[in-house]
Amino acid sequence: MTTRAIDLQIAAMKPANSILSEYGTTVFTVMSALAVEHGSINLGQGFPDTEGPEDIRRVAADTVMKGPNQYPPMLGIPALRQAVAEANKRFYDLDVNWQTEVMVTSGATEALADCFLGLIEPGEEVVLIEPLYDSYLPMVRRAGGVPKLVRMAPPEWQMPRADLEAAFSDRTKLLVLNSPHNPSGKVFDEDDLRFLARLVIEHDAYAVCDEVYEHLVFDGHKHRPLMTMPGMRERAIRIGSAGKTFSATGWKVGSVTAAAPLLTAVAKAHQFVTFTTPPNLQMAAAYGLRQGEEYFDTLAADMQAKRDRLGAGLAVAGFHVLPSSGTYFLTVDIRSVGFNGSDEDFCRHITTEAGVTAVPMSAFYQCADITRFARFCFCKRDQLLDEACARLQRHFTSHVTSA
Ligand code: PMP
Ligand code: GLN
Repeated sequence: MTTRAIDLQIAAMKPANSILSEYGTTVFTVMSALAVEHGSINLGQGFPDTEGPEDIRRVAADTVMKGPNQYPPMLGIPALRQAVAEANKRFYDLDVNWQTEVMVTSGATEALADCFLGLIEPGEEVVLIEPLYDSYLPMVRRAGGVPKLVRMAPPEWQMPRADLEAAFSDRTKLLVLNSPHNPSGKVFDEDDLRFLARLVIEHDAYAVCDEVYEHLVFDGHKHRPLMTMPGMRERAIRIGSAGKTFSATGWKVGSVTAAAPLLTAVAKAHQFVTFTTPPNLQMAAAYGLRQGEEYFDTLAADMQAKRDRLGAGLAVAGFHVLPSSGTYFLTVDIRSVGFNGSDEDFCRHITTEAGVTAVPMSAFYQCADITRFARFCFCKRDQLLDEACARLQRHFTSHVTSA
């Protein structure tokens, strides 16, 4: 039987899960494939074009040779759970018990799925803020949650207080908060956090806090976890990612910090989803988290310089560039260079015609009606950022661009 014949036969059989089947391939995969196809500079999917710090990688390599290489404990190796607990104290003055309140996951993506699967009872509501990271909605829905979306819109990215107030009810189980925020680069301030904490507490809900960009905050600001707000220690679940903190996005080592009863509930999902995470990468992440201040300061300072470099280059190409206080990303208004088509058309257009790839902002909204903005990633070598800007400058100063 040919594979084509097998596919046709399966198409006539019982269908796969209807919720996940609705979704196409993620925008990051689609745009990266397009970048490869056209040989363009990929400022779409967010990943550094370097390999990450050598000493941290050395620990991972040495551990593969020396061991351990067998199943680590289900919650993660003690060294990493201790390092995560220490980091909570060091950066946020949170006292955390590494044995009962920390779990290691295979990336923040798994941690998010574990939270949704472990906490949501079918029919319960989950408040989410758009634009949102692509895994949230499918996984909340697959876990039986009913999404209540509220929306932040460019260029201001204001937190929609009245909409949030209206979205919360007695049926609310979870708030999902991503700060520093992908794709906007917004870092929620203390006032925002106080407001969100009040809603969560008033409605007896929990908060799943995606803080993967916690160490990528710029201009002297500091990230503040929602967990540090009064009344939130027992209601917030904090998620981190070694991929972002150590510039090795392929590593997929995440962490969850939460009060013991919540962590236990989330671990119930983890034990059946992946059970554990490669031990050498856990050892390396533990070593990395114990780096001195200089490591973390340099990481943020280097990334801030890249933000400024790309921002300045895009401005020279004619773009109106929105402010970004954290993450790997900058947003531009595509109308500012006279492009009148959609953001998707724009991202395809610059890939094929200018040799640079970005990601359309509409991909981060359920209803794709915000179509005037595109996201560029700046965690790349300076030379590549300069070349991307030069290409865009050449293109937009010499072409009629409306589609
Ligand atoms: N959340 C956000 C907001 C992200 O941008 C990413 C980036 N990939 C993730 C979660 C996933 O992190 P990880 O690679 O550790 O699964
Ligand atoms: N977080 C990355 C981004 O926003 C992509 C992660 C992925 O490809 N799944 O670009």
